[in-house]
Amino acid sequence: MPLLSVRDLSTAFETETGLVTVVDHVSFELEAGETIGLVGESGCGKSVTALSIMGLLPRPSGRVKGGDVLFKDENLTRASPERLREVRGNRIAMIFQEPMTALNPVQRIGRQLAETYTLHEPELKSSDVAEKTLGLLEQVGIPAPESRLNDYPHQLSGGMRQRVMIAMALARHPDILIADEPTTALDVTIQAQILELLRELQRDTGMAIIFITHDLGVIAELCSRVVVMYAGRIAEQATVKSLFEHPLHPYTRGLLGSIPRLEDEPKTLLTTIPGIVPGIEELPDGCRFSNRCAYATDQCHREAPSLVAPSPERTVACHRWHEIIAETTRESSS
Ligand code: SF4
Repeated sequence: MPLLSVRDLSTAFETETGLVTVVDHVSFELEAGETIGLVGESGCGKSVTALSIMGLLPRPSGRVKGGDVLFKDENLTRASPERLREVRGNRIAMIFQEPMTALNPVQRIGRQLAETYTLHEPELKSSDVAEKTLGLLEQVGIPAPESRLNDYPHQLSGGMRQRVMIAMALARHPDILIADEPTTALDVTIQAQILELLRELQRDTGMAIIFITHDLGVIAELCSRVVVMYAGRIAEQATVKSLFEHPLHPYTRGLLGSIPRLEDEPKTLLTTIPGIVPGIEELPDGCRFSNRCAYATDQCHREAPSLVAPSPERTVACHRWHEIIAETTRESSS
């Protein structure tokens, strides 16, 4: 049984023009100890999917309107707010792009970390809390952790703040860590260090990770499987290897084409995907990618493609996936 099954999840927001679905029949699974990537441009529904899993949708405008989120064999979409708080505090943790949104700016780091323990284990002696807190900072590679305990968040660099966030998320030994663009605001060197830290922590703790990003390069570094989302729907789902070797969805092909490659000649122009992700109130009929897709036909503008499984390890939602397979086969044999 998978650790987490997201089945046909649909999430909607109340807007001035009525209820708008922003996550539309999304399904994927996560095995224990696995890392999967949720990838797509801003506005594709990745973060809303994560917030739906966590029961953290903004109220009263957002709500899960259909589908299930099964954690082990418990359906979180039917759980009480108390039970969801318990799961969030203990079994599923989340870190965000900007740690300052989650850290209290006027409280010292040590106190914030200690609260993670005192809230859930009030019987712990203060000496044990202090020891565990220090251990957490050491685990996430913060140098001179004793002195850092007395720092306020603003006294730390962006990378150090993200390490503190990760420490807080790890305190309860979660089964799943949802990491929502945790390295996007960091420079490349620090980004590589945080990815390495997540890899090490996963190896040491066995937790599963859902890594949300717009960057397929990061996915290649960390994940075994990837779910590509576009305008609230799944475009393609595959192992990282098959997705990178044979992308089937034109959107995935566009995302991959925009990654610089070492073998490219200097000054080679990167490919870009024309246009932007449509807003939730202006989604086109048929395939939601149709107004940006070089392969679009009349059928694409009329009918939304269903997800089909060209092979056991992948699914794709595109009317023209057969032709794209034929095209990539020709490209790779020429
Ligand atoms: Fe492009 Fe049509 Fe495939 Fe959509 S269904 S991605 S518009 S070819």
